[in-house]
Parts: sequence; C-alpha cells; structure tokens
Amino acid sequence: MKAGKILAVADDVTPYIGPATRKIDARGAVIIPGFIDSHGHMAALGESLEILDLRATKSEQEIADLVRHAARNRKPGEWIRGRAWDQNNWPGRQFPSAAAISAAAPHNPVYLTRVDGHAGWVNRKALELAELTAATPDPPGGKLLRDASGQLTGVLIDRAQELVTRKIPPPTSQQVRERLKRAALECARLGITTVHDAGVGSEELDQYRALIQDHQLPVRVYAMIAGEGDLWREYLRRGPELGDRLTVRSIKLYADGALGSRGAALTEPYSDDPGNTGLMMLQKKDIERVARAAVAHGFQVNTHAIGDLANRTVLDGYAAALGGKNTKRFRIEHAQVVSLEDIPLFEKYSIIASMQATHATSDMPWAESRLGPERVQGAYAWRRFLSLGVHVADGSDFPVENPNPLWGFYAAITRQDRDGNPAGGWFPDQRMTREEALKSWTIEGAYAAFEEETKGSLEPGKAADFVMLSGDIMQIPPAQILKTRVTMTVAGGEVVYSE
Ligand SMILES: [Zn+2]
Repeated sequence: MKAGKILAVADDVTPYIGPATRKIDARGAVIIPGFIDSHGHMAALGESLEILDLRATKSEQEIADLVRHAARNRKPGEWIRGRAWDQNNWPGRQFPSAAAISAAAPHNPVYLTRVDGHAGWVNRKALELAELTAATPDPPGGKLLRDASGQLTGVLIDRAQELVTRKIPPPTSQQVRERLKRAALECARLGITTVHDAGVGSEELDQYRALIQDHQLPVRVYAMIAGEGDLWREYLRRGPELGDRLTVRSIKLYADGALGSRGAALTEPYSDDPGNTGLMMLQKKDIERVARAAVAHGFQVNTHAIGDLANRTVLDGYAAALGGKNTKRFRIEHAQVVSLEDIPLFEKYSIIASMQATHATSDMPWAESRLGPERVQGAYAWRRFLSLGVHVADGSDFPVENPNPLWGFYAAITRQDRDGNPAGGWFPDQRMTREEALKSWTIEGAYAAFEEETKGSLEPGKAADFVMLSGDIMQIPPAQILKTRVTMTVAGGEVVYSE
C-alpha cells in the first residue's frame, strides 16, 4: 500500500518494495477488508465506556465498593454514573437502597441505571441536589419508591428518573471529544474502520474535526445529521461534505420507537398487548418533506423504522419523493418488522435495508409473543430482502448492542445466541451465508454511504483499510468465530490497532 491506498493484492509484491517500505509479516493471518458498522452511536458508546459497567455485579455491596473507588478519583460534586445493574442477580432479589452508595460517596452525586433503563438508583447527595424528599409527589409516568415509613429509598422508576437526570450537567466540548475518541479507539480495536454515526449534532461534528486535525481519529466516520433542526438547514444550504475521515451527506429521522418497550408502531395491536399499536413519531408528509429536500440538495435520508406501520409510512413517504427506481440510496434503519407485501417496495424504490443482526438474536426470546406467528415472518428477515436483490448493510446499533462486528457476523449466519441456542437457529431460513454476511459488514456498508468505489473490498486503488484475524471466519465452526481475535487493524495504511 502507498499513501493510504492499496497498491497491489498479490502473492509477489517485491516490485513494489522500496527502501522506505515497512514490511509486516501477517504470519498466515487472515486478512479481510475493515469492518463497516453501518449503524452505531459514537458519543453514546464513548459515554458507556466512561461510566461504571455494573452488568456482572453480584450484590449491592459490590456496587458500593465500585462507587467508593470511583469517588476517590473525582472532585466533590462530580457525578458518578453507572449502568446495567440488575437486582435479579443478587441474593434476595430486592431493589437496592440509597444507604450503601451514600456511605460510599458522601460528597458525589451517584446515578446508576438498571439494565433495562427503566429504573435509576441514586444516593443521598443526588436526592439532595434534585431536592427530592418524602414530601415529593410521584411525577406523571413515574414513581419514587418509599420505605415503610414513607422515606425515599433512592430508587426511581421510569419518568421519575428525569427528576435527577435533569440535574446532570450536559457534557462539555472536551468531554464530547473524549467520548468520540474513546469510541473510535474501541472501534479500531474491534476491527471497524468506518462507522456510520446514526445521528449527530454540530458539537459532535466540531469535535470530530478537532480530532482529525490532531490526527486522533483512527476510524472514518459517515455522520448522519440528527433530525430536521438548524444543522440540517445549514447543510441544505452548503451541500454535502465529502471528506476522507468525515463525510456528512445524510439525515437521520425517527419514525417510531422500539419493540422491546412496545414503542414500535404496528398496523395491528401487539399480540401480547391488545389495544396497543405503539407510537408513530412522524407522519408520511414529514418523511416526504424531508425526502424532497434531500433529493433537491444531494442528501440521503436514513429513517429509523421498527414496526410494520412505521416501515410502510416511511416507504410511502420515500416513494412519493423518489417516484420509482433511482440512485438516491435512501435507507431504512433497522427495517425490523416489515409486512411481507411491503418488502418488494425496497426493491421498487431502490431503498437500502440497514439491519442489525444482533438485534434478532437479542430479541428472539420475546419477539414472537409481541408479534404473533404471522408478523414474525417479516421480522429480522434478511433473506427476504436479499432474495429480491435489496442491498442489506449490517451494523450493531452500539451501544444498544455490543459493537463487536464478529458477534454481528456470527448472529447473521447462525441466528443463534452466543451459547448456540436455539439449535439450528431462530427462523434459520433467514440466515445469511458467510459471504453475504461479510459483504453486509464491508462492501454493502460502503455502498450504503456511496463509498463502494473507494473502500469495502481489497482492491488496488481502494483505501488501505483492513483487518488481520486470528482465524478464518469463512471456514471455522461458528462457535470459533466468537473466539476469533482481531490481531491488527489498518486504516488508511496506518496501523490503528495491534495486539
Ligand atoms: Zn440506533
């Protein structure tokens, strides 16, 4: 490779070796194109890496010890945050109380979210800052847990969490920058060389630029503008920004919520919640308005749609602006539950399905009870899209799911959890072949960003973005894929990670 680009892919590269050439012996390692995660949230990943991960904790006391340790490295008044505690893993399975973490951090407010995000656990300092007392009434949609004497226990349910979270100061520019950098390093470590950041504001773009200027962004970012705000209007005026490390030529919209919390918008009620059809966040006219503006100014539209009603609405809005086959490469993010009769519309209007294989394996324990036996046929149905010739780009939706692309690759080809369940895979007819999965994690991600001419495969002239793996994921048994290590990541000809 030379100047960040691949010069030759051959058995004999001797003619290309000069005195300044750095030689790396791959020692038989498998080399594949750098992974492209077509849907992740970089600042949120960076934030999740900087707050306490409580997933594996086995008791309230263990968490108090972690909080005590964290408090030692912080100034009085600085927040200590954590996530993913689950009292079901503790002896007694009781909700915790403020006492232990108050003693552990008397001078720092503490805010720890439960694994599902539906409860927060705070200490006395946080209750004081939020001015919450026994006299505080429960807010609409939320609950402050109280003990037998009516005192607050320190556990806040659902919207009661906002009484505390609104007191947490927003991140400074420096913190945003640190988070993006930390997330980018994590991506490089996992073999990801390009991330499609699914929703950014102007602060994140500024910090990306600062990192690039300081040569501190080890991966490439294809950023989607978050919603129709000032930033979108500004970009409509100036046009797309096409860069080597940072490209901005798309907008991210949300049509509905998520399936797990029954916020996904369905045409018929949830099978396990009659009367509930979820919630639409945008109407067809909104999608159409944005789509027309995007077409007029050279932008791509990427809309989050989980439920079948949301997918149909987005397809209708796109169709009104696109008219038929086209080169605009509009995307639906997730395309998670789609009516079987609507899947051909992706092909008809040249729409890319930007899907996340690990969502299927995370959701499979309960997805069918939410959807019933009919609708589940169009859920996480990669094969149905692929068989119609629809482009399917894969991603993780980190930090909602683990960012490891090998986990995504494994999920795509097995439709099993990481213990190999269920045997044979969940709706195994929808599995991808290994070749399809590798493409969806590389060249299809490049296509979904109009970048397939410059990356996504190992060819002369393309970016020298590649990964060395400890095993051949195209051959080894699936369980071995999960044990495969990234031994080196190269982006733009530079080693951005090595073991
Ligand atoms: Zn997302």
